[in-house]
Amino acid sequence: MKATLEERFRKKLLKIGKKNKFLRLCIIPAVVVGVSFFHAVRYCRGNGKRFAMMAMTFLLFVVYSSFSFPMFTAEEGTEEWNSISEEAQGIDLAEEEEINIEDFELLDDDDVLPEGEKIPETVHGMDIGERFNTSDILEYNQHRLPAESPAAAAAEDYEDYEFSPDDWRLILINKQNSIPEGYEEKVPLGNINTMKGVMHCDERIIDDLLAMIQTAKDDGVTLQICSPYRDLEYQEYLFNRKITYYMNKGLSYMEAYRLGSQAVTVPNASEHQLGLALDIVSDTFIKLVEGFGDTEAGKWLAANSYRFGFILRYPKGKEDITGIEYEPWHFRYVGVEAATLITEKGITLEEFWEEYL
Ligand SMILES: [Zn+2]
Repeated sequence: MKATLEERFRKKLLKIGKKNKFLRLCIIPAVVVGVSFFHAVRYCRGNGKRFAMMAMTFLLFVVYSSFSFPMFTAEEGTEEWNSISEEAQGIDLAEEEEINIEDFELLDDDDVLPEGEKIPETVHGMDIGERFNTSDILEYNQHRLPAESPAAAAAEDYEDYEFSPDDWRLILINKQNSIPEGYEEKVPLGNINTMKGVMHCDERIIDDLLAMIQTAKDDGVTLQICSPYRDLEYQEYLFNRKITYYMNKGLSYMEAYRLGSQAVTVPNASEHQLGLALDIVSDTFIKLVEGFGDTEAGKWLAANSYRFGFILRYPKGKEDITGIEYEPWHFRYVGVEAATLITEKGITLEEFWEEYL
């Protein structure tokens, strides 16, 4: 009887296997894999679900084994590590550098401006980036100084004063309450002429502001005013610069946004757009940093600004209420009645709204 093709093939294979034991060791697993694959394909043919399950199992196996590959798990110096070839040890894993958002310094508005670059005139249309020395302001505005300092008024107790939520001086702007549409067009912007140029803020606060810087000067403190009024365009410009800066340092957009909004207020949530807020420092300390609070001028402002209707808007320890870091330089006009009450009680404008309006 003639042997079939399969029988002859099997015989030949066995012969080779007997002659060469090493080859047998290699061929058997190969045959096993080949046969299993053939059966698996036959088993799955015409059954998509079964095939998908098999594919998933295979995929999971591949994924799992890539994570457990010794080169990626062995620690340097261990026996396992030593058993890995030298070449493999030399491979630097592209380890993702962990970025800690806490390590980032909060930026001042001026920090995001390229060194020496003046803010383009078209961005804000006015001398906003300038610092205004208050001696200079006083010299130019002697005629405007109120004959009688409003300081006397602040001595009263305002607990029973009838505050109105419609009072323009009390408008609450923060991350939750953005500037009402059309507000900016209605701000009666006033000019304060100085040697350096014109400074802008709400016309209605200028008398009290002048009285404050005059009194400070009389007390031996020369203040400097920066960025009194900013329009939306400029606020956006500053904010975007800050986001870009942080993103270039490796933060994601969301992280950069979170960090950026802690230091400079997000567009349409800045009191500078109201014309009611001023960043005030002194001629001997011109940086917008926490340390300003410990200077003579910082202390004078914190203690006396309320007499002229101003409050330290973002106090230390109230960050969770205001949503803004401690800013000993940022003063907001709220009128002498509210300023006196807020300062006396040690509360924020947010808390004032909650309790008195
Ligand atoms: Zn400010």
